[in-house]
Amino acid sequence: MAKTNKIPVCSFCGLPQNDNVLLLAGHNAYICESCVEKAYEIVQSDKRSVVKNKFSLSSDATLLTPKDLKKYLDEYIIGQDEAKKILSVAVYNHYKRILNSTKTSKKGEEVELEKSNILLIGETGTGKTLLARTIARFLNVPFCIADATAITEAGYVGEDVETILTRLLQAADYDVAAAEKGIVFIDEIDKIARKSGDNPSITKDVGGEGVQQALLKILEGSDVFVPPQGGRKHPEQQMIKVNTKNILFICGGAFVGLEKIVASRINFNVIGFKGKKQEEIDKNNILQYVTSHDLKTFGLIPELLGRLPVIATLQPLDKTALKRILTEPKNALLKQYIYLFSLDNIQLNIEESVIDLIVDTAMDLKLGARGLRSICENIFTDLMFELPKNNTKQPLEYTVTKEYGEKKLSKLKNTSQSTKKAI
Ligand code: ADP
Repeated sequence: MAKTNKIPVCSFCGLPQNDNVLLLAGHNAYICESCVEKAYEIVQSDKRSVVKNKFSLSSDATLLTPKDLKKYLDEYIIGQDEAKKILSVAVYNHYKRILNSTKTSKKGEEVELEKSNILLIGETGTGKTLLARTIARFLNVPFCIADATAITEAGYVGEDVETILTRLLQAADYDVAAAEKGIVFIDEIDKIARKSGDNPSITKDVGGEGVQQALLKILEGSDVFVPPQGGRKHPEQQMIKVNTKNILFICGGAFVGLEKIVASRINFNVIGFKGKKQEEIDKNNILQYVTSHDLKTFGLIPELLGRLPVIATLQPLDKTALKRILTEPKNALLKQYIYLFSLDNIQLNIEESVIDLIVDTAMDLKLGARGLRSICENIFTDLMFELPKNNTKQPLEYTVTKEYGEKKLSKLKNTSQSTKKAI
């Protein structure tokens, strides 16, 4: 049979090989230079669009209802139903406002929807940060946490208020448009209360009222020039302009002492009631009656309160709630430990009494759910060190007993005070 001497052709565009055309050979196929270039461009533009969409507000956001948001929060956050409801409605309205920029109502009137930032009040470890973080994850928007106590007025040692937005930009991979629709959680807002409460301060209040004034600027929705790497601003630095009009600010704080202010306003003291009928007032949760006026008495300036019109209070967590937190949410701590051990072929059983022990210890430490993780670490660290064995694939079963738990926690109980500081 005559031997056919076929000239190779590009398998994509059919261009035959010649002195001017270089073909790269693959398995039973060829590709010419020009097709390589085109393919490279397509891959790059696809990658760019993936990066761009990394933080697009979830496309389902337009179809969601506050009930859907709350349902999602229920999967991760135990209890706090009232706060979840208030937050779901506020976030729903916020993104409805962003997604419908039109200002004309059905009756044809001009309607400007104002931004409603949110204030979460509740003891430490009750889920304030978790609420904000969970909602941001659900909406697929950039999220950052800032600490109000780190900020000082311009010119003093500490951080400028703009660094809060630096963190948001970093969380958004410097995609300014995405950051401008993000969520910022400002923690410890109660710590920047005016030192002298209701009375205007006589001496300069560097970390209090001055910071509240500075915060106003970013909370109310304006163009802010942000140093991309944070730190103090200096003249040579290139700034990034960020408009805060559509950024949702959620502020949180424990507001220690606020209860007394609320109680005295509604004319009863926390122990004995005066004026109101006992059954009308839930004395275990006095904070639910908080108003902007009480917060003003606490030391927040009226202008800042005006920018935080939505107020939700979180309840202290009781034993039942702590137990549910340990076992129920999608990412519950105990589920995580059991899963970690299962990766080493170890079936970890945890006695019910161990769960009670963890909960009781957390109640003693008075750190809300925040203490649960370190208590669990005290119990499980030695097991995580001892049990995994590389050389054997033999499945193993281990049951954590109350005695074992008590032994591991004895150190923690003895040093309760110093541990509290360390957690
Ligand atoms: P806060 O901001 O109120 O001080 P966090 O939201 O940071 O408290 O909570 C600390 C940890 O405790 C969270 O990581 C979470 O694991 C857990 N936690 C707190 N409250 C709840 C809750 N209501 N439901 C589930 N987990 C919670």
